[in-house]
Amino acid sequence: VWKNCLSFIEDNIQPQAYKTWFEPIQPVKLTDNALSIQVPSKFFYEWLEEHYVKLLKVALTKELGDTAKLLYIIKMENTYGNKQPFTEKIPSANRTAVQPQEVDVPLKNKSPELKNPFVIPGIRNVKIESQLNPNYNFENFLEGDSNRLARSAGLAVANKPGGTAFNPLLIFGGVGLGKTHLAHAIGVDIKDKYPEKTVLYISAEKFIQQYTDAVRKNNRNDFIHFYQIIDILIIDDVQFFSGKAGTQDVFFHIFNHLHQNGKQIILTSDKAPVDMQDIEQRLLSRFKWGLSAELQHPDFETRVAILQNKLFRDGVEIPNDIVEYVAKNIKSNVRELEGAIVSLIAQSSFNKKEITLDLAKQIVEKFVKNTKREISIDYIQKVVSDYFQMDVDTLQSKTRKRHIVQARQLAMFFAKKFTKASLASIGSQIGKRDHATVLHACKTVDNLAHTDKQFKKYVEDLQKKLTL
Ligand code: ADP
Ligand code: MG
Repeated sequence: VWKNCLSFIEDNIQPQAYKTWFEPIQPVKLTDNALSIQVPSKFFYEWLEEHYVKLLKVALTKELGDTAKLLYIIKMENTYGNKQPFTEKIPSANRTAVQPQEVDVPLKNKSPELKNPFVIPGIRNVKIESQLNPNYNFENFLEGDSNRLARSAGLAVANKPGGTAFNPLLIFGGVGLGKTHLAHAIGVDIKDKYPEKTVLYISAEKFIQQYTDAVRKNNRNDFIHFYQIIDILIIDDVQFFSGKAGTQDVFFHIFNHLHQNGKQIILTSDKAPVDMQDIEQRLLSRFKWGLSAELQHPDFETRVAILQNKLFRDGVEIPNDIVEYVAKNIKSNVRELEGAIVSLIAQSSFNKKEITLDLAKQIVEKFVKNTKREISIDYIQKVVSDYFQMDVDTLQSKTRKRHIVQARQLAMFFAKKFTKASLASIGSQIGKRDHATVLHACKTVDNLAHTDKQFKKYVEDLQKKLTL
């Protein structure tokens, strides 16, 4: 039967296409008008379905009549290159019902060093490594008020990828608050529960780079195709898409395809969708389709719990008061919190010292100092009011005295310049003003700096002091 089909097909397409797409197919068996054929990969199967389904149908109907069915068996090779006994049948013939089933290549037990997952060596063999880091899982992602919503949304998604209202799930929050960890945890959990699903974790930067490469090599379609066969797509730090029109466009298409097919999309970003800049509206609106869940700064209890968990896993014991001291003094993010504990342990073992509160104080001090490099609004207000010899309360007061207004405007200007805070947030921190006031202040300072020599000197002096 297959031979007859082949000769019919051969007569109807280009020899090269025949060679590429039909010669590698192996007929397997014929039962009840259903012919099973083995194809080398999922990609191969999808290509056939996309380009040759009509032809196949005609050929098969000619041989077996109207009730003819075609079953694909996908042969797979794992990443070591040896044959896998694992095959999967996919019924075809009435194309509308064909939802490609999940097919995946077993993962190598790999370290988090990421290889480029966009590998289509030849066309015969699609290898997708999920690029997940098994050390980032739910078990060691400690729950607290700061992450409860995001964490439980993540769990819900992991239980039913593509089957919840949280599609896409967008996790946002500042640096070091656990976005990457949580994104991996969801992927790891899905892989655990649904080993047959194709999961891919990728940073937005890498995605952009792959896309750029693909365009340069004229492979844009392959690139899209590659992403369209993924079941769970996790893209980390999508704020990097900002200003990248080509990437946004291609991602828009991939997003639509996956979403329409009930595939799960998980994104992380350092900002909420409303605050993202230079991202197309149509993409932003899709980001908001599912759920945006924020990771906030962990409270003291959560910080202590995270530290204790880390120590427990590393098999290190440190007195409670020291753990609490670290947790009390390092609030900005979890990465630093862990960093402080790690260097505490390292210091003590290196110098054969006991871990004492004094040692903890030295280390915490170093950490806090280092992170102060990021200029805070408080610091700006302090420097500006010192410079004009007034106190911070005066700077924030409601007075309209000219030199105070100027100082306040300068503080707002530098807050806008040196921090990532929004106009509204700057306003609320500098004497409870609204965002329009801050905007006005920034414009005024900018004008005066160009027209008023004395004022220009203020700006330069302050800038020096702040960036010292
Ligand atoms: P982000 O991607 O938001 O910058 P990461 O996911 O890289 O942050 O997290 C920074 C570090 O903090 C990682 O080592 C991560 O394991 C740890 N971490 C963050 N949140 C938690 C948490 N809730 N429980 C345990 N560890 C956490
Ligand atoms: Mg991250």
